[in-house]
Amino acid sequence: MVDYDSARDGFDWYRDGFSQLDWLPGGGLNNAYEAIDRHVAHGHGDKLAMIWVGKNGEEERYTYSDMKEQSDRFGAVDEWLGIERADKVFIFMDRLPELYIAALGVLKAGGVIGPLFSAFGPDPVLDRMVDAGARFLITTPELRNKIAEILPKVETLEKVIIADKDGRSGEPLAEGDLDYYTLMSEADSSGFQIADTSQYDYSIMHYTSGSTGKPKGVLHRHQAVVQQYMTGKWCLDLNFDDMFFCTADPGWVTGTSYGMMAPWTNGVTNLIYEGGFGANAYYDLIDKYKVTVWYTAPTAVRLLMRAGSGPVESHDLSSLRFIASVGEPLNPEAVVWGNEQFNMAIHDNWWQTETGAIMCSNYASMEVRAGSMGRPVPGIEMAVLDEDYNPMPPGQAGILAVRPGWPAMMHAYWRQDEMYASRFKKGWYITGDQASLDEDGYFWFQGRADDVINTAGHLVGPFEVESALIEHAAVAEAGVIGKPDPIAMEVVKAFVTLNPDYEWSTDLRRELMQFTGERLSPAIAPREIDVLDVMPKTRSGKIMRRLLKARELGLPEGDISTLEDD
Ligand code: ATP
Ligand code: MG
Repeated sequence: MVDYDSARDGFDWYRDGFSQLDWLPGGGLNNAYEAIDRHVAHGHGDKLAMIWVGKNGEEERYTYSDMKEQSDRFGAVDEWLGIERADKVFIFMDRLPELYIAALGVLKAGGVIGPLFSAFGPDPVLDRMVDAGARFLITTPELRNKIAEILPKVETLEKVIIADKDGRSGEPLAEGDLDYYTLMSEADSSGFQIADTSQYDYSIMHYTSGSTGKPKGVLHRHQAVVQQYMTGKWCLDLNFDDMFFCTADPGWVTGTSYGMMAPWTNGVTNLIYEGGFGANAYYDLIDKYKVTVWYTAPTAVRLLMRAGSGPVESHDLSSLRFIASVGEPLNPEAVVWGNEQFNMAIHDNWWQTETGAIMCSNYASMEVRAGSMGRPVPGIEMAVLDEDYNPMPPGQAGILAVRPGWPAMMHAYWRQDEMYASRFKKGWYITGDQASLDEDGYFWFQGRADDVINTAGHLVGPFEVESALIEHAAVAEAGVIGKPDPIAMEVVKAFVTLNPDYEWSTDLRRELMQFTGERLSPAIAPREIDVLDVMPKTRSGKIMRRLLKARELGLPEGDISTLEDD
């Protein structure tokens, strides 16, 4: 995007977006076709689509032709298995090439993929598979063992397909299970035809992160691909020759919308790393594979900050030209740090599982305002509403809302019609977040509606207090809640984790109070600060304020299926 205003001016999804896709003969739309096959059809079959790096340093390379051939094969397997339109196929796997190939194959066969984060234990897997009515499960021997006890309880489940990559597990196949590699080698994909899905057919079902309560099953349609494609260009600045690295797992929406669809529809090379976070591991990958565009999350950025500049300096990161972040507010301190370390801003963007794709973003061509989530994607109308759901003028905090009808919009909360309906008011989709808008059209995230604190008549977003706290050298992460108070209604209470080399003391607590009081007004600075060894976070890396609050108040912890292990 060269210029935001001209890109936005009069943009029309049908005329200017969908027309850039190939579509299926006969007018259907299939996102796996748009991601992979069309590049082969356009003569780019030899281009590298995926470089996979295993957790032990293994490497595999797949061209777009390889991806097409293998996903066709898995599509043929699916047909042979009897997968029908809208059938739910759950994938419970580490980030292995087989995960991506199977996902594309299921989409090609017209099924709906339900990706599950591999760190889940048995109960979250059971809940989700039963809720969704899963017919098939694709997993690995290790993960199958982890959840063996719950499988008989999923009554709809017909078959389990096991991918024992390179015979890593050394275990025989359990009775009744099918071997992925045998199925693949025996499949006849010569006559395979992509299912004639329409843009309105379901493609993927993601459960939300569970930050605010029980995770919801969000259903998306093939048409979401147009927005993933366009935002890949606009918000991640993807060009055909980029080497792209997205750190998100496909168990969460970022890992499919931007770990698969945006890079592949844009024809770039997608670097996939099986291992988890590690400052050195990430920098090694960027250095070795000459990553140009990097999409990550604030939680990772905060950990990189904690690791300091040593690892940055010992790597050649000069290939990097664009960094973006999503999932939580990106603290201004992180933007400043990014500028210092990488010589470029980290571009924050905002969206949700429900929105399916980026909705509001800082763009390469636009000045980054540290702490702002940027401006709405072309073709998207966003607003800040008052309590009666009427748009408010700039400068005031209120309900963040979007005009429904954007292409990647969820089509349902699975089996929760009332909750779905409750998200729409006066012609707006209510995001559940609070934000403000400035005079120049930039949106500023305040907090989740549930998290906003009302202290002595001041509305305080936890984010601004947290951001002030992490500006202090001792603080690694901060989580802020409102604690009920008989006089002030609520007082601001903060929990912090400390950087290495710092120890908790009453002096440090006092210092932090003074420090935040100077940066924020004393009225909204934390009244209480406690230290934690570990900040409770969702497995997708978001601070779980509701859990901090429940623990503080001695209340039930609620659904903690997405809580990260200590
Ligand atoms: P649940 O809906 O189950 O409580 P969740 O809202 O965390 O969980 P996601 O859909 O993964 O589930 O996350 C979307 C939310 O994450 C947004 O509504 C917002 O609160 C937060 N978020 C995402 N990106 C940003 C960002 N750039 N700035 C601020 N907040 C963000
Ligand atoms: Mg949510």
